[in-house]
Amino acid sequence: MQVIILGSGSPLPDPVRAGPSTLVRTGAGDLLFDCGRGVLMRAAAAASGAGAFRALFLTHLHSDHITDLNDIFTVRWIMSFEPRPLAVFGPPGTASLLQATEAMLEADIGYRLAHHDDLSWRPSSRVTEVESGVIFDEGGVRVTAAPTDHAPVRPTVGFRIDEGEESVVIAGDTVPCAGLDQLCDGAGILVHTVIRRDLIESFGLARLTDVIDYHSSVPDAAQTAARNDVSTLVLTHLVPAPAPGTEQEWLDQASAHFSGDVILASDLLTLDVTR
Ligand SMILES: [Zn+2]
Repeated sequence: MQVIILGSGSPLPDPVRAGPSTLVRTGAGDLLFDCGRGVLMRAAAAASGAGAFRALFLTHLHSDHITDLNDIFTVRWIMSFEPRPLAVFGPPGTASLLQATEAMLEADIGYRLAHHDDLSWRPSSRVTEVESGVIFDEGGVRVTAAPTDHAPVRPTVGFRIDEGEESVVIAGDTVPCAGLDQLCDGAGILVHTVIRRDLIESFGLARLTDVIDYHSSVPDAAQTAARNDVSTLVLTHLVPAPAPGTEQEWLDQASAHFSGDVILASDLLTLDVTR
């Protein structure tokens, strides 16, 4: 397996960091986890794309994690030569999100159906709402979901992908919790969204301070990795975006709690999964 960070950013627009999204390349195809701002531009750089995704998995329905769902929905449709429903796995609420996305695009769907004689079907999706357990099992690749804790956002899920002896966990946004621990047990790579609590507190802005209580700080993520014998921790969804020259601070905050490999994600970071 291979992990490609498509977007390492956060809700705040950034010139070099797309919104949260991670591609896991498996023997069962390209599995996409979340679809933040710019996901298809980054997927193109990784030689993937809307038509290549075997399935889309959503950790939760916060806007920054689903910003470009409509782009995937539309591009997959207009670049296919036969109906190819988009398989989507996500927490309860995902089915109505897809219905609303289709409704939002109704005018565009009408324009294109009227204009292209060889396009006679509507875009479509096949949604499976998930909270826990094995949710995907195909070609030797298994995806397991477990509930995470991003309250007051509910429900939210994390995912673990297993192929042979290799494993990857996509934590999504969460504070440390039992569901995430269960997914992380002995995992090869943990992709974890993080915030810098120390920096956010120093800004003193209420709107920003509010995010502290439902995200993991860098030490929180490192402790989750250490507690569960993870091999490599990848820090992503970086809030605030690291100022140039401060990258080592992030790594040091993690290494104080975790002796495995720690990597600070940038867009298109590509890692081979080795265990
Ligand atoms: Zn969130």
